[in-house]
Amino acid sequence: MPEKHIVIVGGGPGGLCAAMLLSHRGFRVSLFDKNTTVGGRNRALRESGYVFDIGPTFLLMKGVLDEMFELCGRDSADYLDFIRLDPMYRLLFDDRQIQIYSDPELMRQELRKVFPDSPAGYDHFLQREGERFRHLYPCITRDYSSIKSFLSQDLLKALPHLAVKDSVFSNLGRYFKEEKMRLIFSFQAKYLGMSPWQCPALFTMLSYLEHRYGIYHVKGGLNRISSAMATVVEEQGGSIHSGVEVKSLLIDNKLVKGVRLEDGTEVAADEVIVNADFAYAMSELVEPGVLKRYSRAKLEQKEFSCSTFMLYLGLDKRYDIPHHNVVFARDYKTNVSNIFTRKTLSEDFSFYVQNACASDDTLAPVGKSALYVLVPMPNNRSGIDWSEQCATIREKVLDNLGGRLGLHDVRNHIEYEKIITPQNWQSDENVFLGATFNLSHKFSQMLYWRPHNRFEELERCYLVGGGTHPGSGLPTIYESARISANMICRKYGVDFSAEPNNEWLEQMR
Ligand SMILES: Cc1cc2nc3c(=O)[nH]c(=O)nc-3n(C[C@H](O)[C@H](O)[C@H](O)COP(=O)(O)OP(=O)(O)OC[C@H]3O[C@@H](n4cnc5c(N)ncnc54)[C@H](O)[C@@H]3O)c2cc1C
Repeated sequence: MPEKHIVIVGGGPGGLCAAMLLSHRGFRVSLFDKNTTVGGRNRALRESGYVFDIGPTFLLMKGVLDEMFELCGRDSADYLDFIRLDPMYRLLFDDRQIQIYSDPELMRQELRKVFPDSPAGYDHFLQREGERFRHLYPCITRDYSSIKSFLSQDLLKALPHLAVKDSVFSNLGRYFKEEKMRLIFSFQAKYLGMSPWQCPALFTMLSYLEHRYGIYHVKGGLNRISSAMATVVEEQGGSIHSGVEVKSLLIDNKLVKGVRLEDGTEVAADEVIVNADFAYAMSELVEPGVLKRYSRAKLEQKEFSCSTFMLYLGLDKRYDIPHHNVVFARDYKTNVSNIFTRKTLSEDFSFYVQNACASDDTLAPVGKSALYVLVPMPNNRSGIDWSEQCATIREKVLDNLGGRLGLHDVRNHIEYEKIITPQNWQSDENVFLGATFNLSHKFSQMLYWRPHNRFEELERCYLVGGGTHPGSGLPTIYESARISANMICRKYGVDFSAEPNNEWLEQMR
């Protein structure tokens, strides 16, 4: 086969993983990213000796990541230093707190201690959700680019497990009666930027995955995964052009022939893979009038995830709180409705704090702490003017760090700080509506109804990342890269059969 040239727009986890797989399989790969560092939302923020992950901090389904390296003939452990966290995280309610373990015996004991009056349905949860996951996983890893591939045996077998009418929260009622117990296993809907009351029941698999396979940190931050992938791409001869923005896709009668860069250079390609945020890319990189199903007007009718207000704090004091901390609003349901339905700010809000120095001393100078604070917020359909609200929200966040986590003196120790508002996600990071977790994962925007990996509106164009199938989150994004890479290989008759059967996959069967 003459060498085929693949151009990738965006070096987030999806773009990097696709670049890694395709450069290993003999394609000439050129990846362009507008930022000077690759990784997208999974890159590092480094300042004054502090290191923060901009986005992802929880690595789930580590086995999927390992497999991507194995598919390139490599061992992820040669590039990354993984730290399994157990307890995985701490949850704080208004009246109690609980440590969440992936060790089942420790988890049973903790549930009995914190909820002495409620019979724990934990074992039933593990057993039933495990069964659901085993049926659903094959549906996640296949492509839905045609009706034939959609109506597969795998999907038919999974249908009874989809529980289409249930939400994650209602599904958990099978196992746990007490509302707070249900929240422990349903707040993970927020990983998709959704409300547990609206998120389809099948995503109960998120908490199942944590409990079954654990949560990992990577020494130096999860951003190291992106840098490691970039290293592999370059080792395999691929080229990465960071700090180079793509201005538009070169389209001739629905056929994508390459990309135009910011300086006007045209780069020809046999196939183009789009990793930039899907709705941003379709509205900004494609001329109006070309797309029908995903035209700007149609995108306006889609449902998108929530956004986040981020505060990264470099503090000249070592704080002794666990690695991951989730603080629930006193009235969690109202906070969730404000974010997703009313699209307004809440007086009392939930937030997440990562103190990664608790298990990784490379992230801050000795005796100091790097705190990452994430507050779920409405996406920019809210119309909130963030230039007006930013300072007030910052103060409230700092108050809450004192009031809910006991970090009363935090204001006195700030050496470095950075804020990202929903408006910044949109304007600086090219995230449509600042919806940080992409198109919402409701049924009508999933599987066959999510933008296809082989993009249905344009020829020679593939999608990877949170906006295509299977959806947002690192492991599923890596799967999107595998699906698109495999389809490109099939098109050109390139062998990619070496699918390792690693231990992690064996455990699932
Ligand atoms: C705050 C936050 C926390 C998260 N936490 C987790 C977590 O704990 N665990 C988890 O699994 N997932 C998490 N996610 C979700 C998801 O894993 C990440 O958002 C992930 O980075 C998305 O990857 P992606 O491949 O879709 O691309 P992105 O990370 O969005 O990268 C897209 C890339 O395209 C580039 N780009 C955009 N426009 C252009 C252009 N015109 N030209 C060239 N390049 C362009 C951007 O610079 C960017 O590098 C989190 C997300 C956020 C925002």
